[in-house]
Amino acid sequence: MPTLPTPQPVVICADALRDLYPKSQMKAGIKAACICSPFFLLGTLLKMEWLGVIGIGLVFVLFVVPHILRIKRFLASLPCSVCGLPAGRHTTVNLIMHLECEHCGHLSRTDCLMFGHTPTKV
Ligand SMILES: [Zn+2]
Repeated sequence: MPTLPTPQPVVICADALRDLYPKSQMKAGIKAACICSPFFLLGTLLKMEWLGVIGIGLVFVLFVVPHILRIKRFLASLPCSVCGLPAGRHTTVNLIMHLECEHCGHLSRTDCLMFGHTPTKV
């Protein structure tokens, strides 16, 4: 009797990862516009259009950077499906996110489909 290869456990993280993303893209967009627009307005009034760049920079520092850091921290803390230690690295194979273990080198499949703005559960 040939034995079937044991299926590798899938690391479940799509739901938790999705929770880290803004619930509504539109709300996030409005918030960003609210922060940017006074700078653009002021820039236009003072004939200093470059002030708008500060608004964009502020949105970047206030929302984009913490968001990226949160996602990075979360992904780095996910455990490897073989040794159970935090994998540390991740990569995408056929749009499916995989954890690349820094300890044993194992590639663990996750249930995250990285397609579009927010990850989808496979
Ligand atoms: Zn490992």
